[in-house]
Order: sequence, then structure tokens, then C-alpha cells
Amino acid sequence: MADQANPFESLQEQVDDAAVAVDVSPGVLKRLKNPERVLETNLTFELDDGSLETVRAYRSQFNGDRGPYKGGIRYHPGVTRDEVKALSGWMAYKCAVVDLPYGGGKGGIAIDPADYSETELERLTRAFATEIRPLIGEDRDIPAPDVNTGQREMNWIKDTYETLENTTAPGVITGKALDSGGSEGRVEATGRSVAISAREIFDWLDRDLDGATVAVQGYGNAGSIGASLIDDLGGDVVAVSDSSGGIYDAAGVDPDAVKAHKNETGSVTGYGDTETVTNEELLTLDVDLLVPAALENAIDGDLAEAVEADVIVEAANGPLTPDADDVLGERDVWVVPDILANAGGVTVSYFEWVQNRQRFSWSESRVNEELERVITESFDGLVDAYEATDVQNLRTAAYVVAIERIVNAYDQAGSWP
Ligand code: NAD
Repeated sequence: MADQANPFESLQEQVDDAAVAVDVSPGVLKRLKNPERVLETNLTFELDDGSLETVRAYRSQFNGDRGPYKGGIRYHPGVTRDEVKALSGWMAYKCAVVDLPYGGGKGGIAIDPADYSETELERLTRAFATEIRPLIGEDRDIPAPDVNTGQREMNWIKDTYETLENTTAPGVITGKALDSGGSEGRVEATGRSVAISAREIFDWLDRDLDGATVAVQGYGNAGSIGASLIDDLGGDVVAVSDSSGGIYDAAGVDPDAVKAHKNETGSVTGYGDTETVTNEELLTLDVDLLVPAALENAIDGDLAEAVEADVIVEAANGPLTPDADDVLGERDVWVVPDILANAGGVTVSYFEWVQNRQRFSWSESRVNEELERVITESFDGLVDAYEATDVQNLRTAAYVVAIERIVNAYDQAGSWP
């Protein structure tokens, strides 16, 4: 990544920026900038050769004023306590900005899953589920997938929890496979909110997404599906990348064919008749729309000086450092913040949880219609807040909306005399 900014400090700075526009007392502001609790633990599990391995794992519960903690579980060598704390905070503000009845949480295990077999990953995941069992529950804390985890891991966690609790509680986790209580539309949901956000910002700016050139950094769940749905809206995807590098074709690429190539070869590189570009080159291409969909800190203040895109829609969590935000603001680059743009994932996770609680499944079209409503209404609320306040950018406006909702819930709960 281009910069080593501490993501937790970035989150705290984002909250500070917005708090200026909201009437928050210093004591409450401190609450809004720090997690309620963080579990940091060892997980010891058996490898296939019979030896034991110990790795570090975390679960951060940031704020539960609006409902159960909610947020994914990441498997990545770069996972740290501060990263998980930041991600849990972004979840709290994300759930508030799209008005879901949830707080924020996040978990992670500091491993590269490519180093382990499937049976080793299952033992590790069950060890983690056992460790967090006292903290989670349908009304307490509801994990979900994040980087390098998906339906398989969610199904294992659900089974571990239900077995140990001697119950059935599919709503304890979301992002499950359909036959294990998952929801239609969940896999596509994050990419879908990215595409809806792109459509809404172009519309608000009076620009045409049809024919706009698009570059996407990161070609996993959020990036590849976002690219495909933006292409459906007429966007012209000219460059994409993953951790192995990037490709560029001024004539545009077929996002689904690139995805098929990645599934076959493990990377987007080498697809068709494309030029090879580095990630840095991709992030500074002269395109209409840039979608960072990999990890935090993709663009720092220095790189932001070289960004040529007019609009950025953040599919990843925390891809711009606060310095980058300042530079891009001065250069009139519009940014739709992560806490709205990628909120499709948690929104359909919420629909999955509602379906699990009701023991009643929705059709895919119902899921997509409800998601469309949530994201467009939230976008409208965000630009209303931006226009009504004197804040510097759409990110700060999003935090203003979210902080007001969290603080209202906290105030209304009253105090114990
Ligand atoms: P994923 O594991 O499916 O994909 C991540 C992609 O990023 C992979 O293609 C990987 O090769 C690429 N990548 C990693 N490092 C890179 C680098 N330095 N340069 C370029 N590409 C790089 O993960 P995902 O679920 O798509 O998550 C991506 C981002 O979106 C994360 O920030 C995640 O927190 C966020 N997000 C995901 C969801 C979801 O529902 N999946 C929801 C909200 C936010």
C-alpha cells in the first residue's frame, strides 16, 4: 500500500472532523472515537501433520448504542489490533448512515489463508468461533465475511455456535450459503451499492455514467462485482488490478471475462490483449471514475496529488488517508465515502438476519429493490447534510448524519441515576 497511516488514527480524525458540525460534548466525543471492548486472543489449532500452530486473533465491539454489533471477519497477514478497531468503528458509522438498527464490530485473524489447507482453516475457524462464542449471538454481535473469508467460513462459524449452544440460530452470522440460511443477493450486495453510488453521484454532478471511463483497484468480491454492475450501467471499465498487478485497455475490457480469467489463472494479469500497469499507475490513470476496492491506505496525500480521476467511489474500507482527502478536496475530486458506497454488504446482511429471525426467505428481486431504496435514500440524506452544513466533503457529511443518529440513541437511553 502507498502509505502506512494508522487506520485507527484515520478513523478518529474523520470523527473529529464531523464532530465540529455536531453538538457533541467532549465526554461523548471520546466515546465516539474508541471501541467499547476488544478481545485479543491466541488461537491454537492442529496442522495436518499433527503439530500445533498459534496465531493472533481479534474481535472489536465498537459501539452498540443502536443495536447489536455488526461486522465482518478478515483473514490477512496485515491484521492488527488497530486495524480491527478502525474497521469496527467504520462499521458503526456505516450502519448508522444507512439507518440499520445495528452497532459496529469487526474481527480478524493475522494469517495468510493461502498458507493453510482447507481442513486446517476449518479447525482454525472453529477455534475462533469457540473463542468469540460468549460475545456473539443473534441479538448481541453478528459477524459476516470480509477479506479472504466467505460463505464457507460463515457456515463453519454458524455450525460451531449452534452446536455449542445446542440451538438453531442462523441469525448469529450473515453471508452464509443459501442452503445454510443465506440471502439471495448477498454475494453481489457490496458491488451493487458501489454501482448505485456511482450512478447517484454522477447524476448529482450532472454527469453521464454512460460512456464514463472506469478503473478498479482490487478484483475480489467488491471490485469485480462493482465493475460488472457499473459496466451494466454503461460505464467503460478500462483498467483493473489485483495483488499481482493491473491491466489496461483504452478500448475497455469485459469485466465478467476478466473475472473468468482470474478464476482460471489466479490473477487479472495476462488477460487478453491488455497493457500491464502497476497498482500505482492504475490509481493515477486519467479516468472519469476510480473505484479502490482492495485495502486501507491505497491512496495517501502524495499519491492523491497524482490522481487524475474526477470521481472516486470507495468500495474498500478506508482506502484514502485523511491527507489524501484533503488533497483531493483541494483538487475538486468528489469522493463517495466507504461508509455509504460499500454499505450494500451490511444492508443485505441485515436483510439476511431479518429473514433468519422470521424464518421466511425473500426473493432476489425483493432484496435488490429494498437495497436500491436504502442506498438511494441514504445518498439523498448525505447530500442534504452536505448542502445544509459547512463541512468540507461528502465523507464528513456522512459522519455528521451517522454521529447524530448514534448520539440521539445514546441520549434517549438516558442514564442510571
Ligand atoms: P476479496 O478478498 O474478495 O478481494 C480483495 C481483492 O483485493 C483481491 O482481488 C486482492 O488480490 C486485491 N488486492 C489486495 N491487495 C492489493 C493491492 N495492494 N493492490 C491491488 N489489489 C489488491 O475482498 P473483498 O470482500 O472484495 O473486500 C475488498 C474491500 O472491500 C475491503 O476493504 C473490504 O473491507 C471491503 N468491503 C467488502 C465487503 C464485502 O461484502 N465483501 C463489504 C464492505 C466492504
